[in-house]
Parts: sequence; C-alpha cells; structure tokens
Amino acid sequence: MKVLIYFHVDQHRMKGGMSYDVIILGGGISGLSAALYTGQAQLKTLVFDTGASQITRVSKLNNYPGIEVISGEELISVYRKQAEAYGAEVRDEEVASAKKEGEEFLVETASGTYRSKYLVVSSNANSSLLSDFGIELEVNPRIPRPINQMKDGDGSGETSIENLYVAGLLAGLPSQAVIAAGQGASVAVKIATKALEKPYMWHDV
Ligand SMILES: Cc1cc2nc3c(=O)[nH]c(=O)nc-3n(C[C@H](O)[C@H](O)[C@H](O)COP(=O)(O)OP(=O)(O)OC[C@H]3O[C@@H](n4cnc5c(N)ncnc54)[C@H](O)[C@@H]3O)c2cc1C
Repeated sequence: MKVLIYFHVDQHRMKGGMSYDVIILGGGISGLSAALYTGQAQLKTLVFDTGASQITRVSKLNNYPGIEVISGEELISVYRKQAEAYGAEVRDEEVASAKKEGEEFLVETASGTYRSKYLVVSSNANSSLLSDFGIELEVNPRIPRPINQMKDGDGSGETSIENLYVAGLLAGLPSQAVIAAGQGASVAVKIATKALEKPYMWHDV
C-alpha cells in the first residue's frame, strides 16, 4: 500500500513576505477608491497609509457630488470602511520603499516585505516612491503650490512599467477629491479587467 505524505508549503513565507494581487501605496481618496473596486473584484488587496490625506484638512467639504456636506476626516473614514467591507486590508503603516523584481513588486515597511502582481502608487505629495522606479516627475501645473506629478501624466494612471499604476494627483489631475476618486476607480477597473481577463464592471442590483 502506498502512503502519500503531503507537505504543506507556505509559498508566501517561503518567498519571504506576504503575497497580494494588488498593493496600494497611499490610502487617501484615490487609493481607497481603487481598493474598493479591486476588493469587490475579489483581488487580494492591501493598502498602506500614513493618515495624511489632504482632504482630512477640510472641515466642511461642499463639492462632493451626492453628499451635501461632510468633513474630510469622515469622508476618508467612510471610504476605508467601504474598502474593508469589500475585502481590502488597510494597514496604518509607512512604506519605506518599493521595487520590481521579475514579475513581482516588493514593498518594504517596518513590519516586513510584501509582494504583489500589481502596484498602485497613490501617495500624492510623497512622490519619492514613484521616482524610485525611475518614473520621471514634474511639478503639477494645475495647483498653486509646488508638488510633483508623473511627467506628462494624462490621468490614465498607466506607466512605462508593466502593472505599475499611478492614482490621484500623482497621475496628473486637478486637485479635486471627486476627480481623484473617479480616477482611482478607473485604475482599479483597468487592473481588474487585466487580472480577470474579462471586462470588469460593478453593477449593483
Ligand atoms: C488644504 C486643502 C483643501 C482642499 N479642499 C478641497 C475641497 O474643498 N474640495 C475638493 O474636492 N478637494 C479639495 N482638496 C484636494 C483633495 O484633498 C485632493 O484632490 C485629494 O485628496 C487627492 O487625492 P489623492 O489620493 O491623490 O491623495 P491624498 O488623498 O492626499 O492621499 C495620499 C495618501 O498617501 C499616504 N502616503 C503618503 N506617503 C506614504 C507612504 N510612504 N506610505 C504609506 N502611505 C503614504 C498619505 O498618508 C495619504 O493618506 C484640498 C486639498 C488641500 C491641501
């Protein structure tokens, strides 16, 4: 009689770090919006955030369609709850660095190394994570104070590196929350469509 012995191999640990389909660097407006959609698409999604979304400086936000008035803090809190409800994991942790190794992205934080197939950089005023990939930056001409965006960014969120996307103001947008939210969702739909190999859309009934 043959005795089969199965060894459970934890690939995540073997490779050194937890694996995700999508990692999102920055859990502000665009990053959490992207996470809501990739989470709903059943892609294993991890968001890192340092709690400094620009919108949290606003006590009364009056120009978010569909919501009469809300504080920036509350808006971000609702975004986060929605993303988590659809399966995204959100960690209050600063990303130290990110790089691509073969087909994978490697993200380093104080707690370890995290791996993913798709990476979204949505860290807004912190453009260093993008420049680490050799992506050229320029000052965003649409806002009064100098912060960087991806050079020649047209808002599509696509970059010259396969499976690396940019969301939010870094993608070359005017500084309005609803535009960042829509663009984050648009990036997520592109990722989901590619990952699932069929057009992704979210239509509730
Ligand atoms: C003072 C002020 C008032 C504004 N008022 C309005 C308004 O009334 N109406 C309106 O529509 N828009 C307003 N905006 C603009 C709006 O806030 C932005 O358009 C929107 O927040 C941009 O979204 P984003 O996702 O690009 O970046 P953000 O929402 O800023 O998110 C970026 C996130 O990345 C995180 N992050 C950065 N580096 C790291 C790292 N290394 N590791 C992990 N996380 C990181 C930050 O903590 C932050 O949460 C205002 C902006 C400012 C500054």
